[in-house]
Amino acid sequence: MNLERILKKLNKNEYRYYKKIHLGDPNKNMFLDYVIISRFGVFVIRIVEHIGTIYGGEEDIEWKVYTKNRGILKFKSPLPGNSDRIKRLYRDISEIDPKNFHSIILFPNKTKLMVETINAKVINESSMIEYIEEFKDEVLNDLKFDYLIQLFESYKSFNGGSSLSKLFKKKKEAPKTEKCPLCGAKLIYKEGDFGDYYICSNFPTCRYRKEA
Ligand SMILES: [Zn+2]
Repeated sequence: MNLERILKKLNKNEYRYYKKIHLGDPNKNMFLDYVIISRFGVFVIRIVEHIGTIYGGEEDIEWKVYTKNRGILKFKSPLPGNSDRIKRLYRDISEIDPKNFHSIILFPNKTKLMVETINAKVINESSMIEYIEEFKDEVLNDLKFDYLIQLFESYKSFNGGSSLSKLFKKKKEAPKTEKCPLCGAKLIYKEGDFGDYYICSNFPTCRYRKEA
């Protein structure tokens, strides 16, 4: 499932999205399929590619997919995995109320959903934008929104599987003499979409950042 086409429908000034974000800990292979951030909340998206009819509930450990050809197959409920990812995000984003994080489980359009959930929204691909745009209250101010962008930019630079070696490589490139003027910690070099920059190694505790 490629969401890029759908995500282009979102207003660029209001929403930012990130794909395949690796969450910190190099030992744990914890990826977010997609995350959409906005002043209206943070949407954490898990993609499940099963096609058929899906049966499942909030408390069910296993969900089922039915197809005419293969009958019923069981698969692990995507709910606990996505809520673990959201919990992991809280660790870095404690300033933001947990209720502003939304779990979305996305299935292909062909899939019929016979699912009842409370804490996550389980929908077809084509309904995603409509659902996200239902949130109209600005629950995050500009400061918090900017903070989220910075945080996800920093996650993005951990991407690519061998995150640890990549992180060390980046650290080597940081200027040895230069220290963070706010807290005295080392600066880390990052490659950004809009130019390279240095960020404090104490991030997110310290938010110093400057252009390289
Ligand atoms: Zn600092």
